[in-house]
Amino acid sequence: MGTIEGAVVVVTGAGRGIGRAIAEELGHEGARVVVNYSKSKEAAEDVVAWLQQNGSPEAVAIQADVSDAAQAAKLIEEIIKRFGRIDVLVNNAGINIDRTMKNLSPEDWDKVIQVDMNSYYYTVKAALPYFMQQKSGKIINISSTNGQRGSFGQTNYATAKAGILGFTKSAALELARFNVTVNAICPGYIATEMFNAIPEKTRESILAGIPLGRAGRPQEVARAVRYLIVDGDYYTGETLSMNGGIYMQ
Ligand code: NAP
Repeated sequence: MGTIEGAVVVVTGAGRGIGRAIAEELGHEGARVVVNYSKSKEAAEDVVAWLQQNGSPEAVAIQADVSDAAQAAKLIEEIIKRFGRIDVLVNNAGINIDRTMKNLSPEDWDKVIQVDMNSYYYTVKAALPYFMQQKSGKIINISSTNGQRGSFGQTNYATAKAGILGFTKSAALELARFNVTVNAICPGYIATEMFNAIPEKTRESILAGIPLGRAGRPQEVARAVRYLIVDGDYYTGETLSMNGGIYMQ
């Protein structure tokens, strides 16, 4: 059984949305949380202020655009310098640039692949030596239902999110002998800025198609992350789907 209290946890893209909920869930139970952000400095500082008052006095915000390999590596180095170890890495940073392929430029393709998939490799690659040395660690990759089933107008996003699943399984195979687990969570539609940015009409039709009749809450994803850390020691290379029933494997 894993413990959250005192664990050094980094969540990428934790200033807002699902990342913020994960940071709060784990910090509330005493994890030492690193709130990574790329652009949302004020929001990240708000999260840290909340964490410091609510169970995570050592919480800190660290800026890094994790889609840049050097910045991702610097993020991990700063964590090691500050805390001397890393127990949990939650790869959550993500963007979307939704267009049908006819209108999707190679730049739109590359940008989404870079942030939504390549950054996950960059952070894991940088944290690897510490996980291997410690002989413990948990890596949790936030993917998406749309990576499992495909999505109209999201070839770039769905490709990145599907790629994360292959990465998760392969990394799990490589790291198992170091007692490091690697798992993915595939949320369906979760009520964050990313979901609210979908045009209202499309959102309504999405909601109408969800068997449970509502979007998920960021806190529900956060509790799945908590579960993997606390009770999920024997999960590795696995994908946890949570989507209100829109996609059943
Ligand atoms: P969101 O509200 O738009 O937040 C995105 C987060 O990613 C922000 O904190 C942002 O930080 C961070 N980010 C973006 N680019 C970054 C970069 N280069 N380096 C570091 N951080 C970066 O989105 P969300 O809904 O919380 O989504 C979080 C994750 O869940 C994403 O991977 C998304 O694909 C996935 N997901 C979301 C849904 C959904 O319906 N909401 C469903 C399935 C999966 P800055 O503001 O600092 O840039």
